[in-house]
Amino acid sequence: MAEIMIREGSAATRPAGKQLLPALPYDHAALEPHIDARTLLLHHGKHHASYVDNLNTALAAYPDLQTRSALWLLLNPGKLPQGMRAAIRSNAGGHVNHCMFWDSMSAKGGGAPTGPLGDAIERDFGSFELFKERFDKAGAKLFGSGWVWLVRARNKGGKLGVVTTPGHGNPLEQGRTPLLLNDVWEHAYYLKHEHRRADYLRDWWRVVNWPEVARRYERFEHSAGRSSDAKIARFPWTRRLF
Ligand code: MN
Repeated sequence: MAEIMIREGSAATRPAGKQLLPALPYDHAALEPHIDARTLLLHHGKHHASYVDNLNTALAAYPDLQTRSALWLLLNPGKLPQGMRAAIRSNAGGHVNHCMFWDSMSAKGGGAPTGPLGDAIERDFGSFELFKERFDKAGAKLFGSGWVWLVRARNKGGKLGVVTTPGHGNPLEQGRTPLLLNDVWEHAYYLKHEHRRADYLRDWWRVVNWPEVARRYERFEHSAGRSSDAKIARFPWTRRLF
């Protein structure tokens, strides 16, 4: 089975040793009142940490896989030992997605995207408001646990779209490039918003880090056309080694 290579952002390999939980890029209380400190403390320190721990446990008997990034493990299920495939994939996905998620929010977040990303959102969704409506509707409709994403197609002129993935799936598995994601597992909102996922989705826009999302969009532009090989995942994110 062919290997999926990863271009930019996150290398396929990492130094040997255990996967580590990265520090949050802000204080636990930084996203208050929209995302409360206790939720963030548990979400990062318990939920994300458990994916990292479980991934290390699943990889314990496979030293050659310990030098692979979590993103590589997620994108290359055919290279994983069959009996451990499901455990490695779901925990690698949980690790990758949460790293991406923390970087998508900021204490100074909110507002609307400007520049080329703002223009592309208007072009492909009609308006920023219509985009948010699509995103929230998809997130609210997703049954059970999963993620909702703003993605960019590799073909069709790089058209933007909204998709959901169950569990800890990632659009890169379907050849789409992720630009932004929101976590709609109950652990992301239940303490503050209880069962009201739609309210959480609405509040979350107040913390979205648009300059970072715009940077990803432009980074994708910059790398477009360099390869049309479907076996190369285009990943315009800066965090490395997860
Ligand atoms: Mn989560």
